[in-house]
Amino acid sequence: MKIVAPNYYPAFRCIADRCRHSCCIGWEIDIDPDAREAYRRIPGEFGARLNASIDDGEVSSFRLGEGERCPMLNQSGLCDLITALGEDTLCQICADHPRFRNYFADRTEIGLGLCCEEAARLILSQEEPMQLIFLEDDGADDEPNEEEANLLALRTALICIMQNETQPLAARLDRLLAAVNFTIPERDWAEVYRNLERLDSTWDHCLDLLVPRGLSDRPLDPFGGTSKEAKSMQRAWSNFTVYLLYRHLPGALNDDDIPGRVAFCVLSTWILAALCAAKSGCTLADCIDLARMYSAEIEYSEDNIAALLDALWKEI
Ligand code: SF4
Repeated sequence: MKIVAPNYYPAFRCIADRCRHSCCIGWEIDIDPDAREAYRRIPGEFGARLNASIDDGEVSSFRLGEGERCPMLNQSGLCDLITALGEDTLCQICADHPRFRNYFADRTEIGLGLCCEEAARLILSQEEPMQLIFLEDDGADDEPNEEEANLLALRTALICIMQNETQPLAARLDRLLAAVNFTIPERDWAEVYRNLERLDSTWDHCLDLLVPRGLSDRPLDPFGGTSKEAKSMQRAWSNFTVYLLYRHLPGALNDDDIPGRVAFCVLSTWILAALCAAKSGCTLADCIDLARMYSAEIEYSEDNIAALLDALWKEI
């Protein structure tokens, strides 16, 4: 089996107490059965406190405290479980976050999710094109099945289109849609996004910036296009599309919706660009933060992705 990842993956380090949007706040944290059993065996005062912080329902989870903080997150922004017992004692979700995986017959693909602010900074500020590297390769000559091989070849071609910086970003996005013969319908996409499930009310304020119209006048070059900051911003948007293609196109192996998923990646980039354009004096750091929010609100929600795929296919 092979384990494949983007070339920036090994550089990721959680920034822990320096993180402004910690994944230990605001998210349900389920505990896998092995970790739950191990926690039951932890002795002493710390073990008692840990076990008293867990709700055991059908699935065990940490009981979030004030401000939806994980009870193990201390006021210094560090995890008491790691401090007291080491990283090896983390439950699977905490040890994994912000990693995601996609499984194929011959490989597992791993990546960093953009809802983590450090992953978002790392991914969107990459100046080199994303390439895939092998983290592990046991030398087995497994092959992807035909459907997987076709999808992986298409994804490689689409990522190449996005990474061709000799073309304007809008043209590259149009080529993605042309490659799968899809036209995004003109509709009030701001309204579509407003009707999706919400995680954090801050996202409402961002959506309020979107003008209530379609995306025919796409703001993909809102900053004049040639300044260093404008180029960084455009590269960030392009990195965002590549990230989405890498992560979400394999979902078509389950729902058979390659065109819709490519359109989802393009639409998401348009929305991110529109949000950046609408934010006065938007910097690369603002863009990265908007992408982080987009990720947490939209691409981490299967319901929201499904709703957008429906909206993309729906006749007006
Ligand atoms: S969001 Fe990312 S950087 Fe922040 S605490 Fe979680 S893993 Fe670390």
